[in-house]
Parts: sequence; C-alpha cells; structure tokens
Amino acid sequence: MTASDQADALVIGAGIIGTSLARELAGRGWRVIVVDRNHAPGMGSTSSSSAVIRVHYSTFEGTALAWDGYHDWLEQKDRAERGEEAVARFVHCGCLVMETPENGFLERQKQFCRALGIPFEEWDREKILERLPGYDLTRYAPPRRIDDPAFGTPAGGEIERATFFPTAGYVTDPQGAAAGLAREAEALGARFLFRRSVSGILEAGRHVSGIRLADGSEIHAPVVVNAAGPSSFRINAMAGIDDEIRVPTRPLRQEVAHVPQPEGIDFSPAGPIVSDSDIGCYVRPDHGGNILVGSEMPACDPRIFVEDEIGFDRSHTDQWTNQVWRYALRAPRLPIPHHPSGVVDLYDVTPDWIPIYDRTSIDGLYLAIGTSGNQFKNAFSAARLMAGLIEYCENGGEHDTRPHRHALPHAGVAIDTGFFSRLREPVNESSRSVLG
Ligand SMILES: Cc1cc2nc3c(=O)[nH]c(=O)nc-3n(C[C@H](O)[C@H](O)[C@H](O)COP(=O)(O)OP(=O)(O)OC[C@H]3O[C@@H](n4cnc5c(N)ncnc54)[C@H](O)[C@@H]3O)c2cc1C
Repeated sequence: MTASDQADALVIGAGIIGTSLARELAGRGWRVIVVDRNHAPGMGSTSSSSAVIRVHYSTFEGTALAWDGYHDWLEQKDRAERGEEAVARFVHCGCLVMETPENGFLERQKQFCRALGIPFEEWDREKILERLPGYDLTRYAPPRRIDDPAFGTPAGGEIERATFFPTAGYVTDPQGAAAGLAREAEALGARFLFRRSVSGILEAGRHVSGIRLADGSEIHAPVVVNAAGPSSFRINAMAGIDDEIRVPTRPLRQEVAHVPQPEGIDFSPAGPIVSDSDIGCYVRPDHGGNILVGSEMPACDPRIFVEDEIGFDRSHTDQWTNQVWRYALRAPRLPIPHHPSGVVDLYDVTPDWIPIYDRTSIDGLYLAIGTSGNQFKNAFSAARLMAGLIEYCENGGEHDTRPHRHALPHAGVAIDTGFFSRLREPVNESSRSVLG
C-alpha cells in the first residue's frame, strides 16, 4: 500500500487508546488505518487492565478528563440495559477511598470534585464497617514488605474516615472493550491491519508521510499517531524525537493478584472498589466471588522498568505475595491461594504519571502515550481530546505555543491541553503514582 489517498491518518496500536481514537476520527469523517502487531484489538497492555473507572485524581485536568469519560462508560451501561449493543459491560459499583495522611485525606481530590460537581459521600468508621464487615481498620503505614520485621506492626490509631465516590466502577472485559471500539470504528469506515509491526516512521522534510512495516512495505498518510502503549518509546526512537520529550515514557512491570474475596465480605459483583494507601493496595471485585488486588506503588516496592517490553518475564514474583499479604492485614479472613494467579503486564509510565497527549516537532506526528496505568477509563475522553488537538494542529494551530483548549462535553468545562504536553516540566501536584 503506498497511496496517500488510502488514509488520512494512521494509528499505531489497537489498544483501548488507538481503537477509541480511530472510532472518534472515523466518526469525524477521517479515513483511518490502525496497525497492530498483535492478531486482534486490545491484546497489548489493555488486556491486563484492572479497568477501574474512577473520578478522583490529584490534578484538576486529570479529574475533569476522568469525569468526562465516566459518562461514556455509563452510556455503555445504559445501552446494554436497553438491549442495545455496547462496547463493554460496565459494573457501576462505586469506589471507597480510605482517607490517610499518605493521600492528604483526599482534600485536593474533593476540592476538584466540588468544582466539577462530582458527588461524593464521607463515611465514618461505622459506615465503613457496615459495608466491609470484619475489616481491620488499624493504621499500618508506611506500607512495608513482608520480610521487614516491622511488617504488620500497628502505626497507632485507626482509619477514621473514607470517601465514597458513587460515580465509579469497572469494565469486566477490557480487551473486549477495545474490540467493541474497533468494531464501531470499522462500522464508521476505519480499517484495521493486524500482525503488522511498524519498523519506521517516514518523513518528507519535517512532515510525517507514513510508516514502514517490518516486511518492508510502506503505508502513507499525512497524520500518524503513536498509540503504541508500553512500546511508545520505540516509535519515538524510530522518529528520532526522544530528545524533545521532557517526560519520557518507560515500560514498568506490574503485577495484579486474583484471589477469592475475604470470607464475610460480599464484593461480588457490585463492589465497592477500595483504594487504601495505608497498606498500598487497591481491591476490585471480579466475577465468581473473586477480587483483584493491585498495587498503589508504595515506596518500599522496587520499580522494575523493563528493557524488553515484549519478552519480559510474565511470571508472578514475591510482589504478588507482598500485595496479597498487605491486603490480608485489612481482611484477616482472606483465603490466600497456594499458587499465585493474576496478571503481569506493563504500564507505559512518564515521570509524573500523567499521559502525553500531544503533537511532536514533526508536523503530522502525534502522541497518545504515557498512560501510566491510569488511562483505560479515559479511552473515550482522551480520544475526543486527541481528535480535537489533531484537527487544531492540522488547521494551522500552533499547539506548542498556543495550546488547544478542549471542551469536555460531559464535564461541562474546557481544559488547556498543554497540561499533557511532551514539553512540560513534570507536574508537581501529581501523586506520581498509578493514582495519577
Ligand atoms: C495491570 C494493569 C492494570 C491497569 N489498571 C487500570 C485501571 O484499573 N484503570 C485504568 O484506567 N487504567 C488501568 N491500566 C492502564 C490502562 O490499561 C492503560 O493505560 C491502557 O490500556 C493503555 O492502552 P494503550 O492502547 O495505550 O496501550 P496497549 O493496550 O498496550 O496498546 C498498544 C498497542 O500497540 C501495539 N504496538 C506497539 N508497538 C507496535 C509496533 N511497532 N507495530 C505495531 N503495533 C505495535 C501493541 O501490539 C498494542 O496492541 C492498567 C494497566 C495495567 C497494565
């Protein structure tokens, strides 16, 4: 394929970000081709996502984008309830966040929620225990590794309060959600090429002109979007733009444990999701009376960046055991299986854990990367932001100096998309963790 008239835009990567962007651009009349080295949509890091949809973030822009995107998942739920085809099953179970000194008692997050009209409830100890009977609310922070002699030593006092965000939940099948978005994109005219690996970015002058595939063939288009997930750094290297990115992306290894829910607490299927920075874990309901136990990246755990984002070791390590035992501090009646099960995959992480939604110094080359373990939920809202940004730049907008302002239709506010720039200094207010 060589003719530039075959596509207006090429998207590299058919994960949740690439498929959603393809759907959004195709819906706006763009002729889109998506290229992915896997055999189907969503087979990259998206397939391992915990797919938690929540609205509390540590920055205003992060909160606004998530609040906007939440409404799209809700619409999917409504569609399914009306018997219409939906891209995913969204379980609307709410998210309970323990208030701790580690998360600043959620003061900032609640301030942003108030500003955006996002509902939340403040639960006291009694209310927490009513919903989570048998929970041990002893404070243990800072989270420790189980080989630390002080593991499990009470730090004094108990968790007194938590904030419940009713506008939260999870998607049961994240890979299926990408497949659903790809299906809708195809219905709008987008084309998907699977089992094709991108090996080069083509340029004419300082304008992108297409991509080269590993088999030597080329596909030409005036717009190319890097949505390659944990391989985003390779695409940037192919284009020779790594030096201009002040918040470079790196693949970070991550384990999520799948265990039976604690005896006496009914999580399944309707939650709530629990986020607990005192023990450095989050918990999400799963089907069949199981739960997922994920990490909130406490300082005691090593951050394992991988060099080989395809062949990295996908077996569970003592990280699995550490996460599960930390959660057992809270839920002493947690049945701990002898054999670890769950997922091991990669986050595509920036230094401030905020994504890059941006253009590059090569005209026509765009970035939707650095999703930092927290952008599944923003599939719809980030796709609208990216499509708006691309149209702004392609119509002559000087995004680097006069950033595109993006109106979030559901949140009812406009944000300065320069916040997500590749040229930013790392954002100080960020939690600098998966919480965004
Ligand atoms: C364990 C885990 C738990 C998570 N939990 C949550 C959560 O609860 N909530 C939340 O909001 N987010 C969560 N995330 C983050 C979220 O899942 C990701 O941000 C999101 O799925 C990333 O989507 P993506 O499309 O950018 O990347 P990917 O899904 O990785 O897609 C990138 C695609 O690019 C393709 N590709 C790469 N290089 C090439 C190439 N050279 N040629 C062709 N194709 C290429 C890959 O094959 C892949 O399909 C989690 C992530 C992980 C790993």
